[in-house]
Amino acid sequence: MAQHFINGQWVAASNGQTLPVIDPSTGEVFDTLARGNAADIDKAVAAARAALSGPWSRLTATDRGRILMKMSALMLERVDALAQLESRDTGKPISQARNDIIVAARYCEFYGGAADKVHGEQIPYMNDFHVVVVREPYGVTAHILPWNYPAQMFGRSVVPALAMGNAAVLKPSEDACLTPLAFCDIAREAGLPDGALNVVTGLGEEAGAALTAHHDIDFVTFTGSPEVGTLVQKAAADRTLKCVLELGGKSPQIVFEDADLERAATFILKAITQNGGQTCSAGSRLLVQRSIYDRFVGMVVERFAQSSAGAPAMDRDCGPLINAAQKDRVEGFIRRAIDTGIPVLAQGAVAEGVPAGGFYVAPTLFGPVPRDHQLACDEVFGPVLAAIPFEDEADAIALANATDFGLLAGIWTRDGGRQTRVAKRMQCGQVYINCYGAGGGVELPFGGVKRSGHGREKGFLALEEFCNVKTVVQYHGE
Ligand code: NAD
Repeated sequence: MAQHFINGQWVAASNGQTLPVIDPSTGEVFDTLARGNAADIDKAVAAARAALSGPWSRLTATDRGRILMKMSALMLERVDALAQLESRDTGKPISQARNDIIVAARYCEFYGGAADKVHGEQIPYMNDFHVVVVREPYGVTAHILPWNYPAQMFGRSVVPALAMGNAAVLKPSEDACLTPLAFCDIAREAGLPDGALNVVTGLGEEAGAALTAHHDIDFVTFTGSPEVGTLVQKAAADRTLKCVLELGGKSPQIVFEDADLERAATFILKAITQNGGQTCSAGSRLLVQRSIYDRFVGMVVERFAQSSAGAPAMDRDCGPLINAAQKDRVEGFIRRAIDTGIPVLAQGAVAEGVPAGGFYVAPTLFGPVPRDHQLACDEVFGPVLAAIPFEDEADAIALANATDFGLLAGIWTRDGGRQTRVAKRMQCGQVYINCYGAGGGVELPFGGVKRSGHGREKGFLALEEFCNVKTVVQYHGE
């Protein structure tokens, strides 16, 4: 039975309530979670507040970094067991789960190394003044995370906050939170003082809403849907809190006629099937220059036709989707597209022998999709790709930017001038040229514009989000 982690201890929900943990590959319950409430959130926030004047606050930045690096080493030492846990909890293919643990460990290593490299500045001012700019932790940081990459999300959200000396309260997703809980044991073993990291599990409208509305938090970071992100931002605005939002996407892959088509086709399949398409940065719109549309889409069709969804241990392109509601949602998009006459160009398979109760959906390619169809505009969050032809560079740019989202864009062309011109015009947070979503991207600042959110995670820049910049002006006389 999974419990909350508060002030270095495992504790049940204060009212004793639990939630089931469901294995997406079978649909069966295999564990329970503590169903957190406002009283549990209160305890977690109080523990974090106390940590800010306890042993945690007295560590040097170097000491904080060493703890994070020790966490990284422990994660890598236990990578196989953690990957099994992540795979069972989320349904993702075992090799993808293993990679996620390695990426989580890399976050701990990267931010552990960075902890004592965030320096202040001295500003030349009037001669009888001494002015320094220092960076300080905000205080108690609240983190609300989704289910699609629990281990990686812990690394990219909680770890930089700890690196900067904040005390964190995390509310992971009720649909997948076992690896963030396992990381609490690792943090304790690595020497993280009590109260620096607290995790309360439970439902969004209960534990999540209680955390974002709590009077004693100093900062909120949220990763999840635009709808809930808006609620979180409103709750933060009520108390004038800083809020970082990492929301959804409808990212375009723009393929020009001069591209390396073999390379592009391979990346394009992976960018929509990885994690069953349940990735905010999934390349879910395939924009192809009309002169090569039939030829290139044919190459993608071949790859889709060979793709499949299977149980995590089968290690296919996709695992099951996270839950029954997500499966219904994705199948709804597929059904409505078919009902409105959009051709299915290719459909992968659901592997033989998968458990009947699992939430499997075969990768599906539609095209040509009208530009105003919901498949071209809305985030599906499943292995469904919409192919759309474009005429020329100007048309490609207009089409790529014609959504409410702005997270990533992929540009496939050998023309150097075009690479730069198009990249400059993309309304989004990351642009990939002749590649897509390289590695875990730990070092690469990441985030969105428009409905994809604001603020940046990943990379050194993310540390700036987790600190208050204070200017100290001293008059020292002649
Ligand atoms: P979600 O918004 O339903 O839930 C995210 C988290 O918010 C969960 O922990 C949930 O319990 C909590 N929550 C729900 N209601 C709440 C409330 N009223 N107050 C406070 N917290 C609440 O999202 P999801 O279904 O878990 O994840 C899918 C979405 O997340 C997709 O839209 C996807 O694009 C997005 N996402 C974005 C990024 C990114 O970095 N931009 C990364 C991963 C996922």
